[in-house]
Amino acid sequence: MSGQEFFQAGERVGVLTTQPLDRLLDYRAPEGGCFLGAYVEVPLGPRKVLGVVWGPGAGDFDSAKLRAVIRVLDVAPMRTEMRQFLGKAADYTLTPMPAMLRLATRAPGLSDPPSMRKILRRGDGVPDRMTDARSRVLGVLEDYGGLAFTPRELADMADVTPSVVKGLVKQGTLREEEAPRDTPYPHLDPELPSKQLTEDQAKAAQALAEGVHSGCYGTTLLKGVTGSGKTEVYLEAVAAALRAGRQALVLLPEIALTAEFLTRVEARFGAKPAEWHSGATMTERRRVWKMVGQGAAQLVIGARSSLFLPFRDLGLIIVDEEHDTSYKQEDGVLYSARDMAVLRAAMCSAQVVLASATPSLETWANAEAGKYKRLNLTSRFGASVLPDMRAVDMRSEDLLPSTWISPTLKQAMKLRMERGEQSLLFLNRRGFAPVTICRACGAQVACDHCDARMVEHRFMKRLMCHQCGETKPVPEACPSCEVEGKMAPVGPGIERLAEEAAALFPEARIAVLSSDLFGSARALKQRIEEIAAGEADIILGTQLVAKGHNFPLLTLVGVIDADLGLQGSDLRAAERTFQLMRQVAGRAGRAERPGEALMQTFQPEHPVIRAILSGDEENFWKAEAAERQAAGVPPYGRMAGIILSGPDLAAVFDLGNAMARNDGPLRRIGAQLFGPAPAPIARVRGRHRVRLLVKAPKGVPLQEALARWTAPLRLKGDLRLSIDIDPQSFF
Ligand code: ADP
Ligand code: ZN
Repeated sequence: MSGQEFFQAGERVGVLTTQPLDRLLDYRAPEGGCFLGAYVEVPLGPRKVLGVVWGPGAGDFDSAKLRAVIRVLDVAPMRTEMRQFLGKAADYTLTPMPAMLRLATRAPGLSDPPSMRKILRRGDGVPDRMTDARSRVLGVLEDYGGLAFTPRELADMADVTPSVVKGLVKQGTLREEEAPRDTPYPHLDPELPSKQLTEDQAKAAQALAEGVHSGCYGTTLLKGVTGSGKTEVYLEAVAAALRAGRQALVLLPEIALTAEFLTRVEARFGAKPAEWHSGATMTERRRVWKMVGQGAAQLVIGARSSLFLPFRDLGLIIVDEEHDTSYKQEDGVLYSARDMAVLRAAMCSAQVVLASATPSLETWANAEAGKYKRLNLTSRFGASVLPDMRAVDMRSEDLLPSTWISPTLKQAMKLRMERGEQSLLFLNRRGFAPVTICRACGAQVACDHCDARMVEHRFMKRLMCHQCGETKPVPEACPSCEVEGKMAPVGPGIERLAEEAAALFPEARIAVLSSDLFGSARALKQRIEEIAAGEADIILGTQLVAKGHNFPLLTLVGVIDADLGLQGSDLRAAERTFQLMRQVAGRAGRAERPGEALMQTFQPEHPVIRAILSGDEENFWKAEAAERQAAGVPPYGRMAGIILSGPDLAAVFDLGNAMARNDGPLRRIGAQLFGPAPAPIARVRGRHRVRLLVKAPKGVPLQEALARWTAPLRLKGDLRLSIDIDPQSFF
């Protein structure tokens, strides 16, 4: 990178744009000049596009034809560390720079001039008559002592129609003013009292705070059972960052969890932090993006893409539930937010805290190797203790056909009903039944566009493909043999389990928590709050419930099929099952009443099931690590997945075979290539999918080799190639 920090008007600058071009474009700096890193609008053909001044121009473009930057946007220039971060992230994930820039500028209306909005304050005018509605409006203004509101906010808060507010403006009782649309976030005060930490918690908080004070990069694994107070502890690290005048970012895997979390932040620091996720409004996103750059947002709670926000001085990144699979972005730019957090922190001398009760093997191994520090919280806070975990051996349970709740589990649920406590049944399968089969010919209903069976969703009375989202009605006659009235659901989904629970306990209030049953994050949030308040006796949930919800009355967790995740050849099957089961079980007994977790299994002596039950985590990780080491797979070796897809199967395979024949660049670094082979889901949305897998020893320049290997390829027609570094799923 050049040392030049400012370009005079007319000087050549190289601009990185968000357009899919493989190089920087030369422009002339605009009138008034521009800084290195300036966000600019530049002409490209007939269009105006967004870009960032990346350095001096290359000078290889005819200066007579050189066009000028249209204008410099009114936002802080991109910092050097951010440019370095984007560059390294691009190299690591083999993503073109324009795509990285798009990630870093995902706020609407960035190029709009700073916009103003109308706000209302109390004016001097006396209303001609006082109505109930009018006095409510004035009441709100009084309650908030002089604060200004937008007309919409004011109407909402006073629960009146907009015309009431308009009427008061006309009378001069309300005064209109113009104010900038994007305003700083309320100040967070780290000096407000924190909870009284236990000795263990205080020690951990102290260690994290010291890391923050050092002003250097460092990563710490904060491992503690669910309910041990990890959140309380890392909020003290946030306090340390705020005291040091630096910004903090907390990544959360599940948007539905933010409500409870925001309340806790507000209780600790006196105000709500900024929020960045897909559920936030456009206006809110733009405000976050801009305020973060000005240092006017001290703390951001966000989804993984918040790592690409232009923080002015980021001193701390928390990755909560760091093992969560949703941290891996599975389409577009394929990146792991956990790994990118570490990279970003290294670039800006920040601390990273990876918090989990069941860390990923990657993180565990990094802590073992001394690359990460490790802090442990070993007991639950207060009176609450870890649930008692037991296997229910399904081989000796008596079940009627097409039922899945064993007598043992039923008995335990009955006990909870009698005591007024809650039970949770966990089954990681959405819908009513995973398969619909014809009892005349045995055919199963499959998706027309994908290599997948259609799943019945009874609440919408349709079959749905979980790959492409296509739906169709449950057919009366078999699509294959045309016999009528023989179509039958096979196997359980969460909706079917709910029917079974309702039949067993007709008097019970039953709640189903599955992501597809809620139209919005808000609806889901509300349901979760109702359940926490005791408005359900039996809760049925998919993966969604494994994550951090706090249901104080919940004392029983029943896992319907503990073996489900152990099937299949996924490298991480054991790890995932272990994490999921421990997390789900952790939902029970979070308050004073002790909890119990029952796991229905056909293989109680399976080593993973045994490890889950015994709770001997270190031994589980050690055994798992030894196996991966022996196989040379992550985290002890490197992998990259290549997915080829296209409408014509032969063309996709031809490309795969050609790649396999020309694997010189891979062999030169000692990497092995497997495939091409049809992907486990061999067709999605009408496109055939073929996979190749690259396995390399640790420490070799894998990305460079992959780049050299794929660079000469010319993808014809509708063929697509995507590279997944450190793949997490192999579908
Ligand atoms: P984790 O993040 O490890 O699951 P939390 O931080 O959510 O644990 O703590 C679990 C519960 O215990 C929360 O309701 C939390 O407020 C409470 N808690 C934890 N530590 C303390 C403490 N030192 N004082 C008071 N309440 C605490
Ligand atoms: Zn489909």
